[in-house]
Amino acid sequence: MSKILEIKNLTKKFKDFTAVKKVSFDVDEGGFFSILGPSGCGKTTLLRMISGFIKESHGEIFIRGESMNGIPPEHRPVNIVFQSLALFPMMNVRENVAFGLKRQKLKKAEVDDRVADMLARVSLQGFEKKKVTELSGGQRQRVAIARSLVMKPSILLLDEPLGALDRKLREHMKIELKLLQKELGTTFIYITHDQSEALVMSDKVAVMNKGRFEQIDTPRNLYKNPKTAFVAGFVGESNRLELKDRDGDFITTKNGWRLEKQGLDFNPEVLYVRPEAFILAPTEDLTGINRFNVKIKTVLFDGSNTKVSAIESTSGAVILISLPQNAKFENLKEGDTVEVGINYDNLKCY
Ligand code: ATP
Repeated sequence: MSKILEIKNLTKKFKDFTAVKKVSFDVDEGGFFSILGPSGCGKTTLLRMISGFIKESHGEIFIRGESMNGIPPEHRPVNIVFQSLALFPMMNVRENVAFGLKRQKLKKAEVDDRVADMLARVSLQGFEKKKVTELSGGQRQRVAIARSLVMKPSILLLDEPLGALDRKLREHMKIELKLLQKELGTTFIYITHDQSEALVMSDKVAVMNKGRFEQIDTPRNLYKNPKTAFVAGFVGESNRLELKDRDGDFITTKNGWRLEKQGLDFNPEVLYVRPEAFILAPTEDLTGINRFNVKIKTVLFDGSNTKVSAIESTSGAVILISLPQNAKFENLKEGDTVEVGINYDNLKCY
């Protein structure tokens, strides 16, 4: 697959503060690439360099093999959708979507055709004359995307575009966005601090922390094989166990669990255990696996899984456990003391 975007050692310094540090990556033509990281890690700064709104301190950006060095934003084959959407409130839907094309002084017939086609693609036919202030949050979102896509950018940059929507609409819009991207075949670069958005929509996700990329991978690999402690903690839910002691064939964690060293990656400092890595005794075979007593604090059933928060008996640490939907677990209740084991495949050491 050909690369539409290549970023090499991109760095941005604001006086003595380095917001983006030697970031390198490339994006496949037609891909959905997300940059995921906490607030302030440098996502927006990176996006602004790609769009040309700010100039990099070092490094290079190539789009379809062409260096973007010295090319102003309006001449880059990219378009940006902001969290604020930045729609024109006095204009109707059609005028908002037509705005960029009119500025290019295209013939009216071409503008009309392209706007009608794009509104159909985002399911907004019949809304042409409505003011954007009369639309729902999700509809406004679609207008903003249509307004950018109608310009036929090679790459659409999306800066937390679902951030202002309520949770239910966000859930819906992330599936819609993914379908739209697949249908149009436009390359999307999407920045977010919401791991579920990144995991659901993307082909590839870069996890960013303090200006650097910690890992670039498929959503499944990020979850299954996080390369760093930061990724393990940031992507998906985990129980974090810090190491206290090593003695012979065992390690002891600060919450008092003794684990057999055999089978663990190496001498860890910190362990991350996914909630689904726990095996509940005595209904399952725990032979040869390290066991701990926990007291059930809450049991939450969400349809497909039973989520249990439990207090680890010796240390009092709260442990999050997720059990598959299974008749064997139906009788679990608050206050029960149960024995749990850990599936070592789902335990990551750093
Ligand atoms: P958020 O998710 O909160 O938008 P972000 O990951 O997009 O965060 P950036 O906006 O890229 O983060 O900011 C990264 C860091 O660079 C922050 O510490 C910010 O304060 C700093 N920064 C951004 N722009 C400037 C600027 N113009 N001058 C100085 N520092 C800046």
